[in-house]
Amino acid sequence: MKFLVHTYGCQMNVRDSEAVEALLVAAGHEKVSTEAEAELVIVNSCTVRDMAERKAVGKCGNLIAAKEGRGKTIAPHVKVVGLMGCAVKRMGADVFKSLPNLDFAVGPRRFGAIPRLVERCLAGEKRILELPDDDEVPTGMDAHGVTSFQCFVTVLLGCDNRCSYCIVPDVRGHEYSRPAREVVAEVRALAARGVKEVCLLGQSVLRYGVRNPAWLPDDPPSPGGYVEAFPRLLEALNAVDGLARIRFTSAHPKGCTDELVRAYAEFPKVCRHLHLPVQSGSDRVLKEMGRRYTRAEYLAAVAKLRAFDPEFAVTTDVIVGYPGETEADFEATRSLMEEAGFDNAFVFKYSPRPGTRSAALPDDVPTEEKERRDQVLLADQQVRGQARNDRLVGTVREVLVEGPSLRNAARWSGRDSGNRIVVFEPKGPLVAGTPVKVRITEAHPQILIGLPVFPN
Ligand code: SAM
Ligand code: SF4
Repeated sequence: MKFLVHTYGCQMNVRDSEAVEALLVAAGHEKVSTEAEAELVIVNSCTVRDMAERKAVGKCGNLIAAKEGRGKTIAPHVKVVGLMGCAVKRMGADVFKSLPNLDFAVGPRRFGAIPRLVERCLAGEKRILELPDDDEVPTGMDAHGVTSFQCFVTVLLGCDNRCSYCIVPDVRGHEYSRPAREVVAEVRALAARGVKEVCLLGQSVLRYGVRNPAWLPDDPPSPGGYVEAFPRLLEALNAVDGLARIRFTSAHPKGCTDELVRAYAEFPKVCRHLHLPVQSGSDRVLKEMGRRYTRAEYLAAVAKLRAFDPEFAVTTDVIVGYPGETEADFEATRSLMEEAGFDNAFVFKYSPRPGTRSAALPDDVPTEEKERRDQVLLADQQVRGQARNDRLVGTVREVLVEGPSLRNAARWSGRDSGNRIVVFEPKGPLVAGTPVKVRITEAHPQILIGLPVFPN
């Protein structure tokens, strides 16, 4: 069948969708790029906030309507509609109350079953539900389509942190670290196919190897004497031929150990950027959230990273309007963001999720106040981003080229080691994935502009 996968949510979902696409192609199906052509459409859903779930379910509803010849004919050829991902696990069998004519629904750690489910639908079955167990190890995790020089690689599944507001542990199950030898083999295979940059994924990726061992007794010893599982993985991946860059996300301050900092300093392929979600700057709120660090501990982790490289980029996630968040709590978040000097920040308005601890608390910050706090933090971040980027004017950044800039096709864009977007005018033909040295001439809150330096 001609198929299309629509993806909502985080990088984990992007990665799972890519694996599903590769598995479907291996099963003889053909990937297309528009709904107008597709016979099979799969929606990969997110449930981290209520709105995210609504979007995915709404999309599925529209596709089912198209299949039945109702509504706008957005997808005139669609015959099979499936829903995958986190919302399926949250809704369970109730998914068919919202979407009675859905062909199949499959939870996050069961995506490897999709080619088989498609066969069953073609044989006439409908309303198939597959829910993974919390400890299930997915099949097909190393399937890649490889269409770019960048690739996500899942290293840690699930989450055991159980932050009070977060539904992820309920839907993505318990932590499971993939064996390091499996990850190294996958990255080697990707590099052999031309991949230059990998981003290692885990909800709390620095907990790699904590719940279950990632390194086995008969693995070769760490040449540099690393004993912590994640820095040791960075060491092994730094040695992969052909690979230029290693990124990873998301992190927790408890994982910012001396060994991690040593790995950043010793391994040139490891990018100098960390996405370190803080969520709040108020110790009272952090405690209620169950984040397991204080404001001071968080700031100490950031200081440690910047102590060895002042240009080290730190980005974050923040929640505004958590139950009981006072003006003083909010101001504490504002001041923490300033002290941490974030290079970028994603701000989320608190959304109660069924079954989480905080869902039992009154959602008492009014919507307009959440919106105001969101806007204040974003405005602060614009000023801060400008100031941080201004410091880089005149420096030469090594940029891995991604492609023509979206705004101006005569310019190309790429990212530096700190994940900052750098836009420049190429002097000659360029290929995505090529490293180019760019001298920064102009700074904006979210992008840097510069000129290529020759010789490179
Ligand atoms: N695992 C990462 C971490 O430890 O922070 C992030 C996982 S979550 C998919 C991405 C972001 O969504 C979180 O960092 C948090 O800011 C936000 N988030 C999670 N639950 C939320 C909720 N109930 N309401 C609003 N934002 C939420
Ligand atoms: Fe959710 Fe906390 Fe786990 Fe992140 S660490 S996925 S915010 S429970």
